[in-house]
Amino acid sequence: MTAKDSQLPNQRGYFGPFGGKFVPETLMPALRELEQAYLMAQADPEFQREFQRLCRDYIGRPTPLYPAQRLSAKGGGAAILLKREDLAHTGAHKINNALGQGLLAKRMGKTRIIAETGAGQHGVAAATACAMLNLDCIVYMGDEDIQRQSLNVFRMKLLGAEVRPVHSGSRTLKDAINEAIRDWVTNVRDTYYLLGSVVGPHPYPTMIRNFQSIIGRETREQIMEGYHRLPDYLVACVGGGSNAIGLFHPFFADKNVKFIGVEAAGRGLDTMEHAASLAAGRTGVLHGTRSYLLQDKSGQILETHSLAPGLDYPGVGPEHSYYKETGRASYVAVTDSQALEGFQLLCTTEGIVPALESAHAVYYAVKLAAGLSRDQLIVVNLSGRGDKDLDIVAGVLGIEL
Ligand SMILES: *Cc1c(COP(=O)(O)O)cnc(C)c1O
Repeated sequence: MTAKDSQLPNQRGYFGPFGGKFVPETLMPALRELEQAYLMAQADPEFQREFQRLCRDYIGRPTPLYPAQRLSAKGGGAAILLKREDLAHTGAHKINNALGQGLLAKRMGKTRIIAETGAGQHGVAAATACAMLNLDCIVYMGDEDIQRQSLNVFRMKLLGAEVRPVHSGSRTLKDAINEAIRDWVTNVRDTYYLLGSVVGPHPYPTMIRNFQSIIGRETREQIMEGYHRLPDYLVACVGGGSNAIGLFHPFFADKNVKFIGVEAAGRGLDTMEHAASLAAGRTGVLHGTRSYLLQDKSGQILETHSLAPGLDYPGVGPEHSYYKETGRASYVAVTDSQALEGFQLLCTTEGIVPALESAHAVYYAVKLAAGLSRDQLIVVNLSGRGDKDLDIVAGVLGIEL
């Protein structure tokens, strides 16, 4: 691992063998236009100031770094600090990215925004940013997901977005992404595709990482101020991988800071009903990028399962695949029932209702803390709040609302 590694990806968008641009020829000019516009925006102090101003005044940043003393006592070893992305506007980290890309779209003169969504969280973040920035917003969503997530569909409509049902394939997230890409190919001139995680073709994984890196930069400042040292471990859940890479990346060159990504083991890694692309997948190409994927022997993408809607994706960002191959991060998997345990533990010890996604990281951090000494520090990215998941939790607990 050299200092140069933190400059990745290379010019063609590769993190080692992962990443790249695997798209139809018709999209190549659009990706080049996007990359150019992003590089200009990134280098423009005015754009950065505007992003930072809205992060503060609209999202409510910086989010706190909270020492969870009662939760730490359950582990009985290291201190656990929670990075409170659950307190960001709309209740999760996704708004950081939606707002950053919304500003970029506006700068590029695009007036029509398309987005994909699975459980609806990214759709809500995109619809929120578009309402505030006065942009048209169309959200593609599998109709299976539309049935399951009617509240988020209603929320997107209230925010002025159009929700377009997708009837193909398994009628879930991966089909919604395919449909959004199809729309983009057709309407590339006036349309901006606002992708929701660090996946897809270059430059999305890098651009989205950079917008989400505000999480890690704040964490670094806050822990230096409060503890005068860097953390020993960073722990975050991994769906597509955006909240995790946002926390990890600003610490890339700090070799003593260990990164742990927590994937969804669903009903168990031996059941096929999980979403652990890094822990149990193989390399392949999906949605424009080369990365670890859940696929069968002939390369067909497998159905995934997780109690946490935001972790239910068969791929993962290419930079995580690179971190796995090089050993910069390790990846573990936590089951539905363990995540539920983490969820309940955080509710009762700290009075914080976490998103089920974040609960995966909470569970793992408590186990990790138990084996460490009291002077060690673990930062957990609390990627979102759990209000959106209350009906799922009630369902598994057998409680009728
Ligand atoms: C969407 C979501 C995730 C998973 O997405 P990443 O890109 O892996 O961060 C995690 N937590 C919450 C609260 C989410 O809404």
